[in-house]
Amino acid sequence: MDQHECSQSGPYMKNQRARGSELRIILVGKTGTGKSATGNSILGKKAFGSQLTAQPFTKTCSESQGSWGEREIVIIDTPDMFSGEDHSDSLCKKVQRCYLLSAPGPHVLLLVTQLGRFTTQDEQAVQRMKEIFGEGAMSHTIVLFTHKEDLEGESLTGYIQDTDNTALSKLVAACGRRVCAFDNRATGSNRDGQVKELMDLMEDLVLERSGDHYTNGLYSLVTVSECGPVCEEESFKDFKRALRKYMENQRRYSTRAKANYLKQALIKTPVFISLFIQLFVKLLILLFCVLYRMCVSFSCFLFSVCCLFCSLLLMIAKILMIILRKITGLQGKTLRL
Ligand code: GDP
Ligand code: MG
Repeated sequence: MDQHECSQSGPYMKNQRARGSELRIILVGKTGTGKSATGNSILGKKAFGSQLTAQPFTKTCSESQGSWGEREIVIIDTPDMFSGEDHSDSLCKKVQRCYLLSAPGPHVLLLVTQLGRFTTQDEQAVQRMKEIFGEGAMSHTIVLFTHKEDLEGESLTGYIQDTDNTALSKLVAACGRRVCAFDNRATGSNRDGQVKELMDLMEDLVLERSGDHYTNGLYSLVTVSECGPVCEEESFKDFKRALRKYMENQRRYSTRAKANYLKQALIKTPVFISLFIQLFVKLLILLFCVLYRMCVSFSCFLFSVCCLFCSLLLMIAKILMIILRKITGLQGKTLRL
């Protein structure tokens, strides 16, 4: 289908007009971690439905806007699209809407996780996020921990330094150590304080990226069509095909990256072993030299002691002779010793 048959309007065109000071944020992560609640905290209003339910409460991608000082903020909340092996049409529809609402690309991806609960499901969510948005999205990601109150006064940096969860440590490192904590039940100045902290972090990130937002090839495929349901259907088919290919490529990239990591580790192992052997042999030689020197020094010492002892014996003998001569009154040549 020819992409350009469809006219561009709706959210995408709106986004194209409102570039200026707009900051586009996508909330990503496992269901139930507090994405919607975080969105509400940032905007300071109940924009997204947030509730603890057995089934995912957020069903579709939605967008809400607000401001922080001069900054226009656009937040895109996501439903359950970062779990399991879902490659269905329903996932493609959710992703297409997310792309559409965040076009031409987000400035920040807020990866939401609950403090102290970073599980394998969260790891899967990170993997799925990379598949949907691309590995490069990590350079625009901030890890946001909800349930900040569980820190009980401890610092977030301290918590991350002390954690024995290696997957979490790796994630934080991959995100350039950009982390933040929220208590989504906080109100008033407490709420403002934590939003300010996050806003500062986001401004720093945007500055680091010279104001550029993140984007990828799929963003060029998202348009809102006004040419009827047939055109819309065609547009969706195009997007679905491209998304599946994109996700497959990202999966391959991740597998290759892991394989390369293992390969590098395997290549490095003999080098480390030879270095270890070298070090061990050097230590042995050093020990031998020290022991040898100690032995030589000990022999010298023993020899010197013997010499001294002999000299002492001779001196005693000489003195005894002189004394005896004096006692006996015998004169004679002094015995030369
Ligand atoms: P989502 O599925 O990721 O969008 O999660 P929700 O925003 O719907 O939150 C799930 C549940 O966690 C809700 O009952 C929220 O009130 C609760 N919640 C979210 N953030 C916090 C937090 O920081 N502290 C506490 N105590 N509860 C939170
Ligand atoms: Mg939600």
